[in-house]
Amino acid sequence: MNTESTHIPAREGASFELRAGDRIQVISPQGHQVADMFAFNAANPAEYLSARHTLASSTRHLYPRQGQVFLTLQRAPILKFVEDGAREQHEMLLAACDPARYRLLGVQGYHASCAENLKKTMAARGITVTEIPQPLNLFSSTRADEQGNVITHPNSTQPGDYATFEALMDCIVVISACPFDVETQFPVNVGGPHPIDVKIARAA
Ligand SMILES: [Zn+2]
Repeated sequence: MNTESTHIPAREGASFELRAGDRIQVISPQGHQVADMFAFNAANPAEYLSARHTLASSTRHLYPRQGQVFLTLQRAPILKFVEDGAREQHEMLLAACDPARYRLLGVQGYHASCAENLKKTMAARGITVTEIPQPLNLFSSTRADEQGNVITHPNSTQPGDYATFEALMDCIVVISACPFDVETQFPVNVGGPHPIDVKIARAA
């Protein structure tokens, strides 16, 4: 297989065009770092991976797990989670961080965010994103407890943890190395933000 590697610096994002059958491996080289993942139908970017449609019609599960198939808004298969090298430390509960989140947390002035990373990297492809989909939050230790409270535990993912997905349609996948660094209440990226590495293996 033909493999391409990309290094995403801390706080930044990148996008990848995949053909059906290609695989994308998302790697946390230093650990303790969330990667927000989004996927769009390459032929119609208004159709994107929908965590809620996936939950209803495919996985019936709150969290991304190896073997699951993820669906778009039209309930068409777009990605399969083929290999989990991060001991199930993933979720799709929390919205992508955005400028409003940082303002609410008291940050003054500009702060990079996953929502803006998504918009920027898609704009570079000539695609305007007006609505931020629910991301797959890879390498995240946020969990719902038995009472339904959503708790962000200190990020326990380790250096070299990875998650590999296979494209089930031609799609554009966006990965954001989450810039979150307001750690007192929400230890999302412990000691970070850190970079993320991506490897693409082409099917043919
Ligand atoms: Zn983020």
